[in-house]
Amino acid sequence: MRAVISPSCAADRLALRIMWGMVLGLGAGLAARLWAGWSSGAGAGAIWVAGEILDPIGQVFLRLLCFVVVPLIFASLALGMVQLGTLARLGPLAARTFALFGLNMAVGVALGLILMNTVRPGERLSPDARAQLAEKYGVDAREAEAGVEMQPRVTLATLVDMFMPRNVLRGIVDFQVLPLILFAMLVGAAGTQLRAGRRQRLEELLEILAELMARIVHYAMLLAPVAIAALMASLVVKVGVDVLAALLLFVVCVLGGIAAHLFGTMSLLLRVLSRRSPRAFFKATRAVLVTAFSTSSSNATLPTSLQTSRDILGISSSTAGFVLPLGATLNMSGTALYEGCVVLFVAQVYGVPLALGSQLTLLLLTVFSAVAVAGIPGASLPLIMGLLANFHIPPEGIALVLGVDRLLDMARTTLNVGADVATACIVDDWMRPPDRAAAAGPASARSS
Ligand code: ASP
Repeated sequence: MRAVISPSCAADRLALRIMWGMVLGLGAGLAARLWAGWSSGAGAGAIWVAGEILDPIGQVFLRLLCFVVVPLIFASLALGMVQLGTLARLGPLAARTFALFGLNMAVGVALGLILMNTVRPGERLSPDARAQLAEKYGVDAREAEAGVEMQPRVTLATLVDMFMPRNVLRGIVDFQVLPLILFAMLVGAAGTQLRAGRRQRLEELLEILAELMARIVHYAMLLAPVAIAALMASLVVKVGVDVLAALLLFVVCVLGGIAAHLFGTMSLLLRVLSRRSPRAFFKATRAVLVTAFSTSSSNATLPTSLQTSRDILGISSSTAGFVLPLGATLNMSGTALYEGCVVLFVAQVYGVPLALGSQLTLLLLTVFSAVAVAGIPGASLPLIMGLLANFHIPPEGIALVLGVDRLLDMARTTLNVGADVATACIVDDWMRPPDRAAAAGPASARSS
């Protein structure tokens, strides 16, 4: 008889195997470098093994993720639009919820970008190491530098060109995310005008497409432990240990940004917009935050956040039942923050500077693409590859952060879910008549 393994338990095991893959890969790479220090023949041999054997193994995993980028973004966003079109008819509740979701995500990305621009972890690598990296991931260093000139200068005409190339399919084939996002949203918006039966069929079709792509991502993730071991070993052999210091700094920046947004921005929003006590809020939501952290899945945390919101925070069932499921799908502040940080980190490593205009475009794009991310572990990886390609940064550069992705996934999911519950609190307070607001909910979760 086969034992039944729960999805979160299987995800934990995979995460553990991925961490082991990273540790083994790093160990093997370091051992090879030490050995190369004693014999020059060994050094050439290690580089040959890295380039001819380890890199292709890693590429199988990365290309599988690349395969799904375009259909996944299209299906998730068009589906989200069709569903939103119906929800928008719900009026003020929906409008306030979406406005807060947008604000949460935009502030999250801005925080992440400010941190990355200040600390600049990707620039800790020596120019030699950067050139080797560019070569390792199949790009010529000159091509990465040429990306500098390819960064669009933002004028009205370039904006129209960026969002609406004459041939949308060619733009999409070239991995341009902007026309893809616009096209998907137009299809979704048009979908809301279809007759009910047809709209439902369209929803089902898009759901099937998104589910198929998620399956392919799952296949890729099964290869991840071996692929990440291979990529890490090859990275250390070719680039050296510099890359580890840069990576560590990147992790610190992302965790710092997530903590600042969760405990800083959310506390501020709760104080200013709802007059709830942030301290009581965090005390009441401990179980929710721990569940999000340990499952790395907004969807898996939904039952706990619904229960806590109603029973401990005193949020009305109708608000919690509306805001939280929507938030688990659309409100991804932690994911948006992380996406922006990865794009900037990889750009810094490859020496592709992103000017202010490009970073504003990045902010907008990360918000849209985070909306398209499913509330499951590791769901943002294919979308980040799409974002990298959009800015002429090699998408394979994502390999740099894969080994630490699971840890950061736990942290970003905690923020995703924390922001959902904070939004539910605020919206609930706004929707209650003042006299009932004072009476509602356990006093512990409200400010005195
Ligand atoms: N794991 C995240 C969530 O469930 C999504 C992601 O960023 O990959 O919210």
